[in-house]
Amino acid sequence: MSYQLVNPATAEAMETIEHTSLEQTDDAIANAKSAQRRWAGLAPAERAEILRSFADAVAGDVENLAALEVRNSGHPISQARWEANHVRNVLEYYAGAPERLIGKQIPVAGGIDITFHEPLGVVGIITPWNFPMTIASWGFAPALAAGNAVIVKPAEWTPLTTMRLGELAREAGVPEGVFQVLPGKGSVVGNRFVTHEDVRKVVFTGSTEVGKTIMRGAADQIKRVTLELGGKSANIVFADADVDKAAATAPSSVFENAGQDCCARSRILVEASVYDRFMQGLEKSVAAFSVGDPTKDETEMGPLVTSVHRDSVASFVEDDKVAFRGSAPTGPGNWFAPTVLAPSSLDDRCMREEIFGPVVAVVPFKDEAHALEIANSTEYGLSGSIWTRDVGRVIRVARGVESGNLSVNSHSSVRYSTPFGGFKQSGLGRELGPDAPLHFTEEKNVFIPND
Ligand code: NAP
Ligand code: MG
Repeated sequence: MSYQLVNPATAEAMETIEHTSLEQTDDAIANAKSAQRRWAGLAPAERAEILRSFADAVAGDVENLAALEVRNSGHPISQARWEANHVRNVLEYYAGAPERLIGKQIPVAGGIDITFHEPLGVVGIITPWNFPMTIASWGFAPALAAGNAVIVKPAEWTPLTTMRLGELAREAGVPEGVFQVLPGKGSVVGNRFVTHEDVRKVVFTGSTEVGKTIMRGAADQIKRVTLELGGKSANIVFADADVDKAAATAPSSVFENAGQDCCARSRILVEASVYDRFMQGLEKSVAAFSVGDPTKDETEMGPLVTSVHRDSVASFVEDDKVAFRGSAPTGPGNWFAPTVLAPSSLDDRCMREEIFGPVVAVVPFKDEAHALEIANSTEYGLSGSIWTRDVGRVIRVARGVESGNLSVNSHSSVRYSTPFGGFKQSGLGRELGPDAPLHFTEEKNVFIPND
C-alpha cells in the first residue's frame, strides 16, 4: 500500500509514500525496545549532548523543512519557518531535562528513601496532519530526554517533514532504533502502538472520535496515554475592551493555518452593545487577510490540506448565515475564502462542531454570566481569548472558562515552556512546559535500611 501526495496549493501530484506494514511495525518496535535500554544507559549528559546536536541539525535544515511543509501541507512559508524553528527550540529546551530528572529523598525511619523517574520504554506517537512537525516534537523531545525510545506515525497526508526529522536525528547521532518514523495508516501502524505490549505509552493528537478509540484500546493493557483532541474555542469580547484591536486581531486567531488549528477561536462572542462596531471592524480585517500562494513571504493563509477536507469545511457554510467573506485564489488548489457566519441559533452546527477550516461564527451575548454560559456550552475545552480592560473580570472569566489555555487581550499561541492541553473532551494530560519529561516516566520509590 502507498499514498500519492498532492500539493494543496497547485493540485500537482508529488511523491508516493510507501506505507509501513504490520510486520515492519513489529520489527520497529522490537528494534526500539533493545535500543531504548542502551539509550537509557547513557550518562544523562551524553543524552543531553545528542539532543543538542539534534537541535543543531534541525537549525541547519530550517529552510528545507519549511519548504517541505509548504509543498506537503500548504502552510505559508513564514509560518513553516516558525514551525521548523519551534522544533529546534523544543529539542533544545528538553536537552536540559536528562540532567534535571531529579528525584526526592524522603525522611523515613530506619534508613533512606529515594525516588527515581524511570523511563517507560517504547513510546508511540500518532500525529495529525495540521501541524506535522511541531506536534511530533512536543512528544518526541521530552520522551527522548527522559530515556525512552520513540516511534512516530505521521498522518498519511503529511509525512514529509516528520520523515526528514527522522533522517536528521540519525545524522545528529541519535542511535539507531531510538527515534523511528513509520509513515502509514492509523488503522495499521497507529493501532499497533495501542495493541503491542512493548509500547508503553501512546501520545495521540487528532480527532476526539479516534482519541476515544485509542483510550478504549489502551485500557486493555493499562497503557499510558496523552490525548490532544479537538476544540471549539471562544474568543470573548466585552464592551469595555479595545474593540477595534479585538476586531483587527480576530482573523489571525481563527484563520491562521487556514483554521486547521485545534486552538482556533472559531466562536466569537461579542457583548451585544458593541456587536455592530465589532462586525464592521472584523469585515475590514477579514478583507485585508492575505490568502494565496504559500511560497510568498507576505501570505497569511494558504489552501486547505486536501480537497476531501475542503469539501468537509464547505458543508458547514450555508449561504443564508454568511455575514461576509474574504478572498481566495480561484483555479487549482484547495482554496477556501475566510468566512464569517452570523448564526441565529446557538444550537447551529457551526456553533457546536469543530469545522477545522477558515470559518468563524459570531454571536452576541447579554452579560458576563451569559458569555460564560455560551463559552462553556461545548464538549470541548482547549483554548480561548478574553478581551476586557476590567482586571476583576479578567480573573473571574479566566477562572470561569472551562479550558486549558487562555489568553487575555491577545491570542497567544503555544509556547514550549508552558503546559498545553485540554479540559473535557479536548484531551487528557498535558504536553510541553517544564513537567513534560515526567509524563514519560514512572516514579519509583526505593527504601534502603541503615543496617
Ligand atoms: P484523526 O483523523 O483523528 O487522525 C490523527 C492521527 O490518528 C492520524 O495519524 C491518523 O492516521 C491516526 N489514526 C486514525 N485512526 C486511527 C486508529 N484507529 N488508531 C490509531 N491511529 C489512528 O485527526 P486528523 O483529521 O488528522 O486531525 C484533525 C484533528 O486533530 C482535529 O480534531 C484537531 O482538533 C485535532 N488536533 C488537536 C490538537 C491538540 O493539541 N489538541 C492539535 C492538532 C490537531 P491516518 O492519517 O492514517 O488517518
Ligand atoms: Mg482524519
